[in-house]
Amino acid sequence: MKCRVCREPASIEIRRHHAVFCKEHFFDHMRRQVERTIHDYRMMGPDQRLLLGVSGGKDSLALWDILTDLGYTVDGVYIELGIGGERGYSSSSRQLAEQFAKNRQLDLHVVDLADEYGFTIPEAAKETRRVACSVCGLSKRYVLNRIAHDRGYEVLVMGHNLDDEAATLMGNTLTWNMEYIGRQRPVLPATDRGLVRKVKPLLRIAERETAAYCVLKGIDYEVDECPLVGGNTGIRIKEWLNQMEAKRPGMKQQFLFGFLDRASDQFADAHQDELELSDCTSCGQATTSGQCAFCRLQVRMSDGG
Ligand code: SF4
Ligand code: ZN
Ligand code: ZN
Repeated sequence: MKCRVCREPASIEIRRHHAVFCKEHFFDHMRRQVERTIHDYRMMGPDQRLLLGVSGGKDSLALWDILTDLGYTVDGVYIELGIGGERGYSSSSRQLAEQFAKNRQLDLHVVDLADEYGFTIPEAAKETRRVACSVCGLSKRYVLNRIAHDRGYEVLVMGHNLDDEAATLMGNTLTWNMEYIGRQRPVLPATDRGLVRKVKPLLRIAERETAAYCVLKGIDYEVDECPLVGGNTGIRIKEWLNQMEAKRPGMKQQFLFGFLDRASDQFADAHQDELELSDCTSCGQATTSGQCAFCRLQVRMSDGG
């Protein structure tokens, strides 16, 4: 196989684009896809204060690298979730995130959930008897927004990729969760109730491509799977979508972008009409009930722990 741009030997094939690329033209392709997504959805500008949620995995590190190459100045934030003990998953992901930032002289904030809020994710999952990913997702969303808001960032950048977003949309459609479908957008605007603008520039990039990008660029990322992923239904939906994609390349992108381009506005408007937001009685962040879900979790952990 030869690169479709320069005819040199190819490093990667992207079937949904009917394209093969050498290393350098694959990097170009990735940058162009991200640039186009930022431009099409008017996500952010280079003069804004940008904060990226960094997990130490392939998606967030590839995105940090690409955005830096595109001329954006982006700070990172890593949340220490306390998963896997002293030398376990969280500590190795953290080291990789810190190493990446150090090598490139980028600023990384580290927030330790246990130090700041008094609990780890395994403790919260045990106490609430909920699937770990559910308390983890809730905590990460809250803490990322809190940090971005309190430290004066204008845009919170997330590394969700095409596979993540297609699987989330499929999961929410299977259960017709209108609230979550209404919130699934490339850009969630800032609100006067303390929610920072949130954007997803990797929407057009598949998981396999961020992995290939990191390998070809020599970026060390966390390759181990989180040990608490067991109850995560998103993983099974991803496997299912991958089987479909193998038979019909481009199906995932068609599913996600069909929704984003044709239906997401109606869902978002309908959802907005139904939502009555107020300020959390404890932390002041927007919520649909008196006290937000994260503050309720924190109270429960301090009562039970
Ligand atoms: Fe959190 Fe679940 Fe991801 Fe582990 S797999 S980091 S518990 S969301
Ligand atoms: Zn080439
Ligand atoms: Zn709260």
